[in-house]
Formats: sequence, C-alpha cells, structure tokens
Amino acid sequence: MIVVAIDGPSGAGKSSTAKAVAQRAGWSYLDTGALYRALTWLALRENLESATEILAALKRHPLRFVANPVNPEIFVGDICVNTEIRSEEVTNAVSKFSAIPELRAELLNVQRKFIASADRGIVVEGRDIGTVVVPDAALKIYLQADISVRAERRSAEIDALAS
Ligand code: C5P
Repeated sequence: MIVVAIDGPSGAGKSSTAKAVAQRAGWSYLDTGALYRALTWLALRENLESATEILAALKRHPLRFVANPVNPEIFVGDICVNTEIRSEEVTNAVSKFSAIPELRAELLNVQRKFIASADRGIVVEGRDIGTVVVPDAALKIYLQADISVRAERRSAEIDALAS
C-alpha cells in the first residue's frame, strides 16, 4: 500500500491537489485537518475544555472520515459535519485544541488506523504527515504557493461558504 503525504501552508492547494491525485489514481484520501476540525466542533458543541472530557466525548461520538475523494465526508458519531467544521468559530478554536498532546495522540491513532485500512494507496494531507504520522511515506510533497495566491484562495473559500 502506497502513502503519498502532502504538507504545506493553508491556501497552498493541498486539498485540491490531494483529492485530484487520489481521484486520478483511484486511491483513498484523508484530510487530517478535517479530523482536528471535527474534534474542535465536538468540544465547542459540548462546551468541553479538558483533554479527559474531550477524549470521553470522542468515545461516545467517534470520528469517521469517508474516503471518497469526489465527495469526502466527516462524521462525529452519526452527524455529518462537513459544513460546520468550516465555520469561523471552529477555524478560530482549532489551533488551541490541536496543541493538546493527548488529543494529538488520539488523532494519531485514528489517522494510522484509517491509513492502514486503505486498499492500494492513499493521499494524506496535513502538516505532520510526513514527519510524525507516516514518516516512511513513499512520497512526501511540500506544496508552497505565493502569499497573494494563498490569500485569494482562502478568500474564495470563505465566500463560497457564505453563499
Ligand atoms: O488544514 P486545515 O486548515 O483544515 O487544518 C485545521 C487546523 O488543524 C490547522 O490549523 C492545525 O491547527 C490543525 N492540524 C494539525 N495537524 C494536522 C492537520 C491539522 O494540527 N495534521
């Protein structure tokens, strides 16, 4: 099973590239940022602050990513949170929860299990994929883009969410 890791700053085009490559190859796809965002959505919804409380909530409502690169979906328990995880509220809070080591360790397990379940190959995007999650990935790509292009892409994404 082949793993392609795509890293890079926000707005560089990681998601678009990862999905296009996975679709073309007929491989699986994982957006690790969506997992961190879904965890954040759950913590905010249940008003949780501590790692212990959040880990317990994740046991009750496990995260599930549906790998289809044409239409990837992220679930918290039975709830599809594709739209909710892109909200300003989640975007503003995600780095705070992502910095908690116990939560990173839990998501590391979730990511490794998901990657191991892929059939032939998988494209995984996120900042620590090539260094921590799959250090032996067959191909590691760091995608960079001009700051003005990144700003334009982010702004278009925010407009698309608002419409
Ligand atoms: O890629 P995206 O903007 O959706 O990621 C949201 C946030 O999740 C990042 O800003 C970062 O705080 C966290 N994250 C992380 N490690 C990853 C992916 C995302 O800490 N592998």
